[in-house]
Amino acid sequence: MIIRARVVVTMDGPPIDNGAVAIEVDRIADVGALSEIRARHSGEIVDLGEQVLLPGLINAHCHLDYTCLRGKIPPARTFTHWIRAIISEKERLSAQDYIASIHEGFAEAKKFGTTTIANLTAFPELVPQVNPPIRTWWFPELIDVRSPERTNEMFDLAVDALKSALESADTSASAVGRTCRGELSKRSRSRGIAALQNWGLAPHAPFTASRKLYRQCEEMARREDVLLTTHLAESRDEMEMFSESRGPLFDSLAQMGRDNSDLHGKTPVEHLAEFCTFDDRWLLVHLNELPAGDTNTLLRSKTLPHAVHCPRSHAYFGHSSFPFRKLRELGFNICLATDSLASNDDLNLFREMRTFQRNEPALSPRQILEMVTVNAARALGQGDRLGQIAPGFLADLIALPCTGSATAFEEIVACKATVTWMMTDGKSVNLARLC
Ligand SMILES: [Zn+2]
Repeated sequence: MIIRARVVVTMDGPPIDNGAVAIEVDRIADVGALSEIRARHSGEIVDLGEQVLLPGLINAHCHLDYTCLRGKIPPARTFTHWIRAIISEKERLSAQDYIASIHEGFAEAKKFGTTTIANLTAFPELVPQVNPPIRTWWFPELIDVRSPERTNEMFDLAVDALKSALESADTSASAVGRTCRGELSKRSRSRGIAALQNWGLAPHAPFTASRKLYRQCEEMARREDVLLTTHLAESRDEMEMFSESRGPLFDSLAQMGRDNSDLHGKTPVEHLAEFCTFDDRWLLVHLNELPAGDTNTLLRSKTLPHAVHCPRSHAYFGHSSFPFRKLRELGFNICLATDSLASNDDLNLFREMRTFQRNEPALSPRQILEMVTVNAARALGQGDRLGQIAPGFLADLIALPCTGSATAFEEIVACKATVTWMMTDGKSVNLARLC
């Protein structure tokens, strides 16, 4: 199949006017000017007309469980007040509510051009009841603050539930093996839902997950070769709790039963660095509170962890400025993400790009688009498979209307429409269907 569009933005070179992409099964076979592609390939030509064709967007951090909490929690006085509010909202929700919420979130992410999502779920046991319509990294969100004596049991239950859900999806698609950070190897040509699913581990945050839990996650991630993610250094409350052993988060967690005896005046980053090795297996989400000593701590590993910034969730909380320029100068790979709808309005990465652009006006639209394509693919260990339109890459593509009134990159970042066409794994996605 050959897909033609007015302009093809490959993220692997300059945009191609009157461009075309040749697709073979689930992969991109070739990309170039339409005349070149027609000369080199046969097959049906799908002409998308006056549109820009680009790699599908990648949301590097989300919680689809909480799609149904959109608008339910007004911005709170402190991060700790928000934590209390979400805990009380969650008490009202059933398993069916969460399943509906995850489906609704997938449908919305898809509408806004997301073809890959890193999704944390507090309910890995519900994953078998969900068929993701887009490429999904499932991360069980692990918390043992209320019952530290049950860390092993909770960890085993969560990981077993998720692994068996993905293995049964593998069996149904007759795929073989899952290696290299969870990606399927030698995938069956019948593909199907299994080809779209991967996994990793998400100890929630240093204030809700114990040293023992973080260690277990790192050990399993190395053994199974999967990714790790955690919320880190997000709020002033978290910083105050760890560095000064006081404040609203300290008090609130003490009331929940956290003994807080592990706090020794260190920052959240220093605290975790005592027992975690922050290498490129880690996606560190937020990093708003990052004194100079902490960046040095993060620089100690042979490979750097990836940083994930959620611009609109960040604005909702009124967090300290995200140290983008400092992290970039030090060589960190930085991605953008939505976080959950308990602290955001929608799952639209175009709006995340525009919010970030207002905060960092010196960045070019191309650099901003990289943060939800090339950079996010690298963070997921997929820099040679996702985030670009290049031979050998997976055929995850989207199209948007374009007028030619600005550069293709400017038009993409400014896009206020929903996407008009999408392909994941070489198959057209029905945008009208929920999922
Ligand atoms: Zn989050």
